[in-house]
Amino acid sequence: MTTFKELGLSEPVLAALREVGYETPSAIQEQAIPPLLGGRDVIGQAQTGTGKTAAFGLPMMQYIDPDTDVVQALVLTPTRELCIQVTQALRAYGSTRAVDVVAVFGGAPIRNQEAQLRGGGHVVVGTVGRVLDLVTRGSLLLHDCRYVVLDEADEMLDLGFLEDVEKILSTTPSGRQTALFSATMPPPIRALADRYLYEPLIVEIASATKTIDTVEQFQLPVETREKAAKLVEVLRAEQPDQAIVFVRTKIRCDQLFRTLRDKGMNVRALHGDLTQGQRDGVMLAFKAGRVPVLVATDVAARGLDISTVTHVINFDVPTSPDTYVHRVGRTGRVGRSGRAITFVEDRQKRELEAIERHIGMPIAAWSAGASAKPAPVTERPRRHSKPHVRHAADEPRARLVASGGRAAGIEVADLVAAITHATSLDGEAVSDVTMLERFALLSVPADEADRVIERASGVEVAGHTLALERAGA
Ligand code: AMP
Repeated sequence: MTTFKELGLSEPVLAALREVGYETPSAIQEQAIPPLLGGRDVIGQAQTGTGKTAAFGLPMMQYIDPDTDVVQALVLTPTRELCIQVTQALRAYGSTRAVDVVAVFGGAPIRNQEAQLRGGGHVVVGTVGRVLDLVTRGSLLLHDCRYVVLDEADEMLDLGFLEDVEKILSTTPSGRQTALFSATMPPPIRALADRYLYEPLIVEIASATKTIDTVEQFQLPVETREKAAKLVEVLRAEQPDQAIVFVRTKIRCDQLFRTLRDKGMNVRALHGDLTQGQRDGVMLAFKAGRVPVLVATDVAARGLDISTVTHVINFDVPTSPDTYVHRVGRTGRVGRSGRAITFVEDRQKRELEAIERHIGMPIAAWSAGASAKPAPVTERPRRHSKPHVRHAADEPRARLVASGGRAAGIEVADLVAAITHATSLDGEAVSDVTMLERFALLSVPADEADRVIERASGVEVAGHTLALERAGA
């Protein structure tokens, strides 16, 4: 088996990897890291969950010269969630080389991001629209940016961002190195690659099935009116640590959320009609393991890296086989296994058959019996504490106050990211964040409180210098 060292990564980067706890490279890492280190352009056909962020992020961290204070690398993402996720990952990968990673995304004050950029930043991770805004305003200069990554390019296409992507690329040096990652390769993405990549090496992580191999997949015939009741039955039988229940539309998402909540379940909804603040709140609660069941639409949950998810339930049959693979890929992440159960109404049988053809295997019938056999062994997630509420509640926690609140343009995700970055704590270790107008409250493990106060005080968040102290002190 290949090691990270054999891929050509340098000691500081290997040290960062030891800290995050990755032991062996995933397939995409094995194939993409050497050419990227060698300066080649790469097309990676891989989706979230394959380890693609490290595949482009590790060579990037090795490439950056931390002593040169210009933007040397850019990662474009289709969504704000992915932007935040990639930023957190890159900060971890670059922690031993003091690489400064700045996140810029819509829905947050642009002035604060401009201030952050003025303060430096070797790597910028941004959503397409916001990056173009900043470039147009002259706040983000890309003339020294020689390492460019387009992450989830097919999503950018779906969201209508390709033209803006081209505008951004045209402000970067023509001699840059470019990597493009995409789960699928529709013609406009190929055309983009033809225009902007130079003799790219294509790295394909087999067929989509490959990445959901580790997921046990079932189908369950249902009648329209009994679906909610069936869902409750399935959840009771399966006892998931954490489950995402996928529905097709925002309205159905909200309806199902209410139904489950009214049955007394601990559940949250994630869909595009929520405000960013609400979405961040839901995400954090779910990631922290405080909520076992999340009802979500595809768009809202796409690309989310939640490695504690044990179950995916397709309450509605996905609109396409690709969507099926995307959804089911939310569980059974790198080296772990998961279970996926798809509800099928009579009139949707053909859609399910199309999915079976696409993944190249039949999907077995679910029954309470199928759930009675021992659940597959799931490895303890690498960077996450046990996702049970009970467990978290047992641990002594300390309540802290952070200076600066909404008025300072700080958002929950930024605050959590800043603290975890400064302390190398898990994102989950920071919980119960309440963002108020002038300050924020948060909880951390009691035995970490002093270290958090010491390390995170003085850190910049959205242009504000954090000060932390114990609540009530
Ligand atoms: P990604 O596909 O980049 O979103 O990564 C999916 C998940 O796998 C993230 O939680 C990563 O932290 C984790 N991961 C990535 N590479 C490895 C690796 N080589 N070993 C273990 N976990 C990994």
